[in-house]
Amino acid sequence: MARPVILTVDDDPAVSRAVARDLRREYGEHHRIVRAESGPAALDALREIALRGEQVAVILADQRMPRMSGVEFLEQAMDLFPRARRVLLTAYADTDAAITAINVVDLDHYLLKPWDPPEEKLYPVVDSLLAAWRDSSDRPSATIRIVGNRWSARSYELRDLAARNQVSYDFYLAEAPEGARLLEAAGADPDLLPVVITEDGRALVQPTDAQVAEAAGLATTASEDVYDLVVVGGGPAGLGASVYGGSEGLRTVLVESRATGGQAGTSSRIENYLGFPNGVSGDQLTTRARLQAEKFGTEVLTTRTVTALEPRGRARVVRFDDGSEITAHAVVLATGVSYRMLDCPGLEDHTGQGVFYGAAATEAASCAAQDVYVVGGANSAGQAAMNFSRHAAKVVMLVRGPSLTASMSHYLIEQIEANPRIEVRTCTEVCAAAGTGHLEKLTLRDRNTGAEETVEASWLFVFIGAAPRTDWLDGVVARDGRGFVLTGPDLPREENGRAPAGWEPDRDPFHLETSVPGVFAVGDVRADSVKRVASAVGEGAMAVSLVHRWLENR
Ligand SMILES: Cc1cc2nc3c(=O)[nH]c(=O)nc-3n(C[C@H](O)[C@H](O)[C@H](O)COP(=O)(O)OP(=O)(O)OC[C@H]3O[C@@H](n4cnc5c(N)ncnc54)[C@H](O)[C@@H]3O)c2cc1C
Repeated sequence: MARPVILTVDDDPAVSRAVARDLRREYGEHHRIVRAESGPAALDALREIALRGEQVAVILADQRMPRMSGVEFLEQAMDLFPRARRVLLTAYADTDAAITAINVVDLDHYLLKPWDPPEEKLYPVVDSLLAAWRDSSDRPSATIRIVGNRWSARSYELRDLAARNQVSYDFYLAEAPEGARLLEAAGADPDLLPVVITEDGRALVQPTDAQVAEAAGLATTASEDVYDLVVVGGGPAGLGASVYGGSEGLRTVLVESRATGGQAGTSSRIENYLGFPNGVSGDQLTTRARLQAEKFGTEVLTTRTVTALEPRGRARVVRFDDGSEITAHAVVLATGVSYRMLDCPGLEDHTGQGVFYGAAATEAASCAAQDVYVVGGANSAGQAAMNFSRHAAKVVMLVRGPSLTASMSHYLIEQIEANPRIEVRTCTEVCAAAGTGHLEKLTLRDRNTGAEETVEASWLFVFIGAAPRTDWLDGVVARDGRGFVLTGPDLPREENGRAPAGWEPDRDPFHLETSVPGVFAVGDVRADSVKRVASAVGEGAMAVSLVHRWLENR
C-alpha cells in the first residue's frame, strides 16, 4: 500500500521548502510529502496522485498566492480528495480569509505564519488531522485498477463510474508497459478490454457496472426484504428524501442506477443553492448528502436500476433489471431526467471518444491546452464552459439561438463575456462529426446563411436539455405527454372533479402523490417541477412528511 500523501503548497519557495522540511522530519517515514509552489501545480500533483490510486491525508495551502488563492485551490482539491483534511496557512491579517474558508471549504484548521516551533504549533495540528483522517470510516474501502484503451468508450464509462462514486482508481493504458504487465500478471486477454483488477488481485474482464461497484466495496443488494420507504434515484431529490426518511426513523433504502448526485453531481459549480454564497461543486454537495443519509441509517444501493413498480395490496414493490425485488410501504420516485442526445452523422460513433453528454468531469484535465467545443445555451452549458476554460486553450460555445439571454442566467452570461478563453458562436449547430478512433473534426452550420465549416476538434461536450426516462412506469403511474410524472392537483380528475380515475382512498391525493396511493414523485421527474437543486431537495423532504401521513392513514 502506498504511503498516504501530505501535500503543501506555498508560492514562496523558501516557505514551501521549510514547511515540507518540517513535515518530512516528523511524518516522512509513514507519509509521502509532496510540495508545490502554485495552486495549479498543486492541482496537477493531486490529479497525478488520484490517477495512481493513492490517498491524500492532509493538504496545507497558503492563502495569498497569485493566480489562485488558497481557498480557491482547496475548493478544487476537495473535488479530487473530498476526505483529505484541509489547513490554510495565513498571515495574521488574513483571518477573514480563514473564516470564509471555514464556510466555503469546510476548513479543518488555519495556521498563522510563522508556525515556529513546529513541535508546538504545527505537529499537534497535523497529528490530530491525521488521526481524524485515519478514523474516518467513510474512506474508500477499495482501490481498483482499470486497464483499457485510451479512447474506448467503456473504459471512459468505468472511470466516470469510479470517480462519481468516490472510488479511488488507477487507469493504465493497455498498450503501455505497466498496463501490459498488469494484464499479463492477471492472465487477461489484451483483446478483451477493459479489465478491472480488484484490490485483492482478481481480474474482472469487461465487467458490468454492478461488478465494479461490488469490487470497490459499494453496496449493490438490499440487506432486508421489506422497508418503510424505497427511494428510486439518488440525485438531490432522492438524497433529500433519504436524509429526511432516515433521520425520521423510516427504514429507508435508496436505489441509484449509476452514481449518487444525479445531474447535480456533474455540475462544476452550483451558485444558487441556499447557504453557499461562493457556490459549491455539485460533487461536494451530493457526496456530503450521501454521507448524511448513510449516517441516518439509510441504505444506499448503487448501480441498480429499477425497471418496474407494482402495487401489491398495501405493499409497493420495486423490481430490478435482474428480476429481484424490494417491498416497501411507500415509494418516492426521484429519477430526474437524462440528457437528450444530439443527432447528426458520426456523432454516435464517437460518444465517449471525444463526444460527451454532460460535464464529464473525469475528462476535464485531459483537455488541457486544447480547444473544447460545448453545445448548448442554458446554464449547464455555461457552467461547463467556465469550468473547461480553466484547462483548455479555448472553449467555443455553439448556441443554436441568436443569443444566450433567453436561456442562461444573467450572472453566468457576465462571467462568460468576461472570460477571454470563451468564444460564443450563436446561430450555429453541429451537423457532422468525423475521426478515426477519436473525434477529430466537426462540421458546423451557420443557421442564418446555411454556410458550413469544418473545424479540427477533439472534444465536444453536449448540453441540449433533458427528458425523463419513465417508460418503465407506463400503465402503472399517470404521466403527461412528455413522460413527466403527474402528482396531486395535476392528476386528471373524474368528471365530478374529485379523485383521479381508479383512485381508491377516501381522500384526494396528497400534493406530491402520484396516481398510485403511497407512491410519490419529486424533483425533475415530476410534471411542471422547478428544475433546480433547492426545489428537488425541498420536495424530497416534503415527500417524507407525506409518507408519514400515508403510513398513518392507510
Ligand atoms: C451540468 C448541470 C448544472 C446544473 N446547475 C444547476 C445550478 O447551478 N443550480 C440549480 O439549482 N440547478 C442546477 N442544475 C439542475 C439540477 O441539477 C437538477 O434540477 C437536479 O439535479 C434535479 O434533481 P433530481 O434528483 O430530481 O434528478 P437528477 O439529478 O436527474 O437525479 C436522478 C437520479 O436518478 C437516477 N435514476 C434514474 N432512473 C433510475 C432508475 N430507474 N433506477 C434507479 N435510479 C435511477 C439517475 O441515475 C440520477 O442519478 C444543473 C444541472 C446540470 C446537468
